[in-house]
Amino acid sequence: MLITSSTVAFLLGTKAYLGIRIWYKRKFTTSKKTSSQSTAIDKLLIALVVLGQVILPLLAIFSPLLRLADYASYPIAAIPGAAVMIFGVWLFWRSHSDLGKNWSVSLELESEHQLITAGVYRYVRHPMYASFFVMALAQLLLVHNWLAGPAAFLAVSLLYYVRRPSEEAMLTEHFGAAYAQYLATTGGVFPLLRS
Ligand code: SAH
Repeated sequence: MLITSSTVAFLLGTKAYLGIRIWYKRKFTTSKKTSSQSTAIDKLLIALVVLGQVILPLLAIFSPLLRLADYASYPIAAIPGAAVMIFGVWLFWRSHSDLGKNWSVSLELESEHQLITAGVYRYVRHPMYASFFVMALAQLLLVHNWLAGPAAFLAVSLLYYVRRPSEEAMLTEHFGAAYAQYLATTGGVFPLLRS
């Protein structure tokens, strides 16, 4: 694939996304976990997300391996794509910052796990997964390859629909009525429409 304004926008967004993830992972690396549901299926889902968000797009951009699946697009697509990417990276940063030390790659509870319902968590229960969907949409607009373009969207959809029920069951068991109340008053990845 040629290096275009679209691929440059995608690479800059992905660099910012990975930089934020590495920074927060280092910052909260000492937190103690009391319970973990890091199952083989959850690890597989995480691996699929890495494949879809990072590995396949990098292969499509920098190697000839996926060239057969490239398609031509208009340079103008870089503008909406970059705007969506900026929003996705912002939402990812906000959710990491609001969740703080309660964040973990897989499903885990800290020794002093707090239920976060403020910041972006006031509007949706899964802003970080929402940011994955937004960045996946940006990838679709910026990576013009039939395989690598939609790969993140498919992987993130799988992660969301498989993981969300276990995550919400774990938090309901731990926080009881407080999480049940939170569940009833917020949307998953879209804010609830209320009058
Ligand atoms: N699903 C959330 C968080 C993803 S990180 C989002 O998309 O923003 C996964 C970890 O976050 C889980 O192990 C869970 O313990 C924790 N978590 C999820 N929602 C939380 C909340 N509202 N308050 C505190 N911890 C939460």
